[in-house]
Amino acid sequence: MTQQQAVTVLGATGSIGMSTLDVLTRHRDQYQVFALSAHRQWRKLFELCLQHHPRYAVLAEPEAAQALREQLSEHGSTTEVLHGEQALRDVVAHAEVDIVMAAIVGAAGLLPTLAAVEAGKKVLLANKEALVMAGELVTRAVRAHGATLLPIDSEHNAIFQCLPNESATGAENSLASRGVRKIVLTASGGPFRGRSLEELGQVTPEEACAHPNWSMGKKISVDSATMMNKGLELIEACWLFNARPEQIDVVVHPQSVVHSLVEYTDGSVLAQMGNPDMRTPIAHALAWPKRIESGVASLDLIATARLDFCAPDHQHFPCLNLARQAAEVGGTAPTLLNAANEAAVAAFLARQLSFNQIPQVIEQVLERLPVDEPDALEVVQSADLAARTLAQRLIDAL
Ligand code: NAD
Ligand code: MG
Repeated sequence: MTQQQAVTVLGATGSIGMSTLDVLTRHRDQYQVFALSAHRQWRKLFELCLQHHPRYAVLAEPEAAQALREQLSEHGSTTEVLHGEQALRDVVAHAEVDIVMAAIVGAAGLLPTLAAVEAGKKVLLANKEALVMAGELVTRAVRAHGATLLPIDSEHNAIFQCLPNESATGAENSLASRGVRKIVLTASGGPFRGRSLEELGQVTPEEACAHPNWSMGKKISVDSATMMNKGLELIEACWLFNARPEQIDVVVHPQSVVHSLVEYTDGSVLAQMGNPDMRTPIAHALAWPKRIESGVASLDLIATARLDFCAPDHQHFPCLNLARQAAEVGGTAPTLLNAANEAAVAAFLARQLSFNQIPQVIEQVLERLPVDEPDALEVVQSADLAARTLAQRLIDAL
């Protein structure tokens, strides 16, 4: 019998968290759920605790934790309920934990992701914002602590699968030395592809969150609609694969079947394809280097019939270029971009900002704030705070 691996799922109540639990449930002989975390949704976490019997459940706040604790004890559950940041760090770094799924959304995921890396775990990274805001610190910690960082973002997981075997993430060799000419990230183009600027000015949060191909949390859905998601992914790819921004192309591919491509110096182009379902990259990373069943249906090429590709529309969706520029500037520029974007997206979801004002806020934050060398966590955190504060001031003044 193979030994069970213990898994902590951060952000268990979210879209990626739920897909992860779906895959884990198919392989109860191989994986056991050690801890589950959520922000405030204690009722949903309660259901998950009854299904998966984790040793620990972690919520952000004490009130929600107390409510969950009472419900669980009424139902005779042995799950221990904890709360707060230190508890998150404890359940990722625990000696018995083998695998951590980092699926908290936004900057809130940085510290627990870093803690998992520093404990040398196998870390499945969905929380792209952690790498965007602190790529240098995270990748340095991966090397220093012998952690394994595996990409869950479908594009990065695809690239990882298309790269030569020996160049797992965190590779220190240049792409050229691995025979790679460039990386091509595919983008669906989001729900608003082809709309006029006037139409884009009127779109609602509900429309932005109705993605044509993927079912995701609200923040990443808005990021997909603005194409900031592809910008964040460009920065994420630079860190994961030791690439420079100019080595990464973006093409719009509305069917979301080709998840990304790697072009080699001999002209070969390798792509990874599949149905747009996050259980594929999750299962891939969980079992890597083996393969396990994910629950995803076979790709029906005849029903798909066409694979279309076109250039991104930078005029209507300026966020992608804002991210590319931040990647080129380096330092804390991506930290500022990420924080300004989080503030702008939250304001758009709260109907305080129109869709077209999202890039305007980000651009102004990038223009006004200085860029520092992100060599310590405090530098990253203060850049993040400065960008959020300025973005909020700009939003309030609109
Ligand atoms: P989601 O909004 O559905 O879920 C987010 C999870 O994080 C929830 O469990 C929530 O309780 C928790 N959370 C939120 N704020 C928190 C806080 N301050 N402290 C602690 N926990 C908090 O988001 P999602 O779509 O599952 O995305 C999660 C991450 O994965 C994001 O970084 C996203 O960019 C990335 N990702 C998602 C997809 C996808 O298909 N959904 C694809 C690629 C990458
Ligand atoms: Mg993606």
